[in-house]
Amino acid sequence: MGKFELPALPYAYNALEPYVSEQIMKLHHDKHHQTYLDNLNKAIDAHPEWGKSIEEIIKTYNSAPDDIKNVLRNHGGGYYNHSLFWLMMSPKKDQMPSGKVADEINKAFGSFDAFKKQFGEAATKIFGSGWEWLVVDSGKLALVSTPNQDSPLTQGKIPILGLDVWEHAYYLQYYQKRADYVDAWWHVVNWADVAMRFETAKR
Ligand code: MN
Repeated sequence: MGKFELPALPYAYNALEPYVSEQIMKLHHDKHHQTYLDNLNKAIDAHPEWGKSIEEIIKTYNSAPDDIKNVLRNHGGGYYNHSLFWLMMSPKKDQMPSGKVADEINKAFGSFDAFKKQFGEAATKIFGSGWEWLVVDSGKLALVSTPNQDSPLTQGKIPILGLDVWEHAYYLQYYQKRADYVDAWWHVVNWADVAMRFETAKR
């Protein structure tokens, strides 16, 4: 019995249609996220002293025993990243950033459109599997690309928005056209969640 559990999707599998298909959401949540979770829990079972919060694990896996270090990095990272990802999307389509985070985006990137362009280009350029992130780094907004299931949190940066660009996140619907997936994904970004994470990160 492991310590961590699969968080339920906070909306129906088809709630992000037409931008992210029901089929993708079912596989992505029920199969991929479940697999990261199962492997993370197996590692914790082998080393119960690593039964810490997932955030602690992401920050400190480098000091874990050799037989679980990479599992904590890859599967702990996968568990954590996907737990965030479901919350960072919403069935309330076409939200816009508002309040302080909107002001900070304008300050850091010039405008909302310029931010979307930079983020989208960076996401499209990631070679192979990874994530594109908007983070709070020393109080400021910045973009970070991570390979595989690495999290900006390991580098001391706080993720407030993340986009999964693994093929499993889009291939069934968008095939090899990652840029089309990125364009569609903006429609389901949960800017209310981003604003909340920004406030928490700035504290
Ligand atoms: Mn994924």
